[in-house]
Amino acid sequence: MDIQVLGAHNCESQNSRLISLLIDDTLAIDAGSLTSSLSFAAQQRLRAILLTHQHYDHIRDVLTLALNLALRNTTINIYSIQPVYDTLSTHLLDGKLYPKFLEQPPQNPTIKFTVIEAYKTNQIEGYGVLAIPVNHTDPTVGYQVTSSDGKVVFYTSDTGPGLANCWRYVSPQLLVIEVTVPDSREEFAKRSGHLTPSLLKQELISFQEVKGYLPPVVVIHMSPNLEEEIAAEVAVVARDLDNPITLAYEGMQLHL
Ligand SMILES: [Zn+2]
Ligand SMILES: [Zn+2]
Repeated sequence: MDIQVLGAHNCESQNSRLISLLIDDTLAIDAGSLTSSLSFAAQQRLRAILLTHQHYDHIRDVLTLALNLALRNTTINIYSIQPVYDTLSTHLLDGKLYPKFLEQPPQNPTIKFTVIEAYKTNQIEGYGVLAIPVNHTDPTVGYQVTSSDGKVVFYTSDTGPGLANCWRYVSPQLLVIEVTVPDSREEFAKRSGHLTPSLLKQELISFQEVKGYLPPVVVIHMSPNLEEEIAAEVAVVARDLDNPITLAYEGMQLHL
């Protein structure tokens, strides 16, 4: 399984892109930077997108991708939970901002949206996909993706503390988890459903308690203006736990 980090941040600039992961060139998780990162040819190779929640940094390129694909007579499968479908179908894909890609063209709509249930494994484009609720401000799921040769990654998406229950359902060989702000902003993190490096440490200790092991960890969704502080604090957590923890970056390649 090859995992490419297309966007690793919560804010976009010339040097940072919004959240998207790409597995084996075909399965995307979140759509913050699918068109800004991928060539037209690579966009056409996408088979499916898993959306974790409705926040704009995770869905931004749904419309731009849909237009590109529509003009090339290609379609895309999007999967998420019911609340995400409800928000997207009434706010983004309702035809006011762009064509109604859920219905157009009538014979073969550009976006085929499938609502999936949490805690149930779905077979999607040859992968086992398990959505697990996490603790964010709006309904959010993390995704465990298992390839046909048994490689397993879990991406939490945006989440605050309290993932002990979540860990019971997943057994990843690689954990991609968010850290949005440094320890000095813990109040903000707790209020907005995010993690700091110290909160990450508690969650990883809880993972170890529940699962009996700790996989390599990749941290994502950093606030770009606070990233130096986050990196220094994450390095301390990695040392304390004696476990590899790396900060994601745009263009990062991970192999399982
Ligand atoms: Zn969010
Ligand atoms: Zn976010």
